[in-house]
Amino acid sequence: MKSMYEKLLETAENGALTESMALQLLKGARDPQNALKLFALASKVRDRTLGMDFYWTSGISQVIPCRIAPRCLYCTFYARTEFPPEKLAKTAKKLEELGLKQLHLSGGSNLQGYDKEIIGMVEAIRAVSDIDIEVNLGCSFSAETVRKLKGMSMLSITSSLETINEDIFSQAKPGDSLDMKKRLMETCEREGVPIRSMILIGLGESEEDRIRHLFYVKQFTQLSHLNFSRFMPYPDTAYKNHPRCSPWDVARTVAVARLLMPHVHLGLAAGNTMDDIPLWLMAGGGNQVGAAYVSRMPPEPGAGEQVIKVDEDVYIKNRMPVVERYLEGMGRKVVFERQVTRNL
Ligand code: SF4
Repeated sequence: MKSMYEKLLETAENGALTESMALQLLKGARDPQNALKLFALASKVRDRTLGMDFYWTSGISQVIPCRIAPRCLYCTFYARTEFPPEKLAKTAKKLEELGLKQLHLSGGSNLQGYDKEIIGMVEAIRAVSDIDIEVNLGCSFSAETVRKLKGMSMLSITSSLETINEDIFSQAKPGDSLDMKKRLMETCEREGVPIRSMILIGLGESEEDRIRHLFYVKQFTQLSHLNFSRFMPYPDTAYKNHPRCSPWDVARTVAVARLLMPHVHLGLAAGNTMDDIPLWLMAGGGNQVGAAYVSRMPPEPGAGEQVIKVDEDVYIKNRMPVVERYLEGMGRKVVFERQVTRNL
């Protein structure tokens, strides 16, 4: 006889999950026996909708100083200096030479607007490279800038909600605006621009909040990516004693998200490591993986990683050999083609 959990999974496979059913699936997956069944279905749904291949992407973070004031209380990774556009262009070119087709520019943020700056960065890169660009400079772009970026063939615009719980958001991010982040998503939806969004697991939100968050972003037909950060407490921040988020919490949430949004790329963001990839894959995550990241300081290469010097103060950390090996060990191939999907 089928268990209650298995009956819920059947409903999920038919695309008929309500918020309360999704919550039961998430809570029930605290039990690893249930989680294995949830992950199996989520993986099956991913393979059916997004295919078996995975896709490389790359990122340059800290491209402009963060002007959020006061700064988010858990953050140590805000940019202090500008990334000069000519160095940005040179770095994008180098990433393209590595075979990469997609590049994500991120942070800092400015509630008063970084509209002029983002156009300048994209123009500088476009002058030397055809690499597809995605941007994440906070939530302040005007509708006019969104239209302009669309005209420049921007692959997506990011609005990172982090958490849908207003109290937790304002405690952790007193200088940032959840309303503006939501408005940017609405503008992108209206203008037909693919949306990339982020959810930060472990900031103090409840499982109910997570499900509410997934249903909120699910309404956007332009949603192409939802990335999952895993909370990491940094010393010298007000959140230094806040618990580190378990990878199990991320995996359970990814799996439920997959059942709710079969066509959306569900990725791993800040706070995850390459060693989180196997569990994420099992839980229905995919199909984009980070190939290379850029740093302004000489990075310590992890085992199997390569560091490529682009300029005196610009370095690429190439993770492709390690990630490729991990994924090949799970029967997956990683390819260079660009890929954007919609939340259909
Ligand atoms: S907006 Fe981003 S970069 Fe700026 S302080 Fe907050 S978390 Fe850090």
